[in-house]
Amino acid sequence: MDCLFCKVVEGQIPAKKIYEDDQVLAFHDINPQAPVHFLVIPKRHIATLNDLTADDSALVGHMVYTGQRLANELGCTEGFRTVFNCNEQGGQTVYHIHLHVLGQRQLVWPPG
Ligand code: IMP
Repeated sequence: MDCLFCKVVEGQIPAKKIYEDDQVLAFHDINPQAPVHFLVIPKRHIATLNDLTADDSALVGHMVYTGQRLANELGCTEGFRTVFNCNEQGGQTVYHIHLHVLGQRQLVWPPG
């Protein structure tokens, strides 16, 4: 399967890894939009949020909890933002779900 983030999981594309376990991998975004900007992805390929099933609920919860824990470990103690983009209009460019975690600057709302 020609998926960029599956290749990161398999080590075929290098990444600045922060954390991994049997279910998820976290690594720094290659084009950071904040002083801290990393991605949490499932190791299993899931293309978009629309492809989730009820069976994936614990996995997505684990992704969010991992993002929260790492954000705090990386110094985002004043706050941070988590984002899932879904499909083209949602701004998704890589079709393997990923939780963006951004912090250490003042973030504004609404996002672009
Ligand atoms: P999306 O627009 O929500 O799909 O976000 C995709 C993100 O993946 C963007 O923030 C990109 O900068 C990031 N990205 C793309 N390729 C790589 C890579 O090889 N390593 C790390 N981050 C990447």
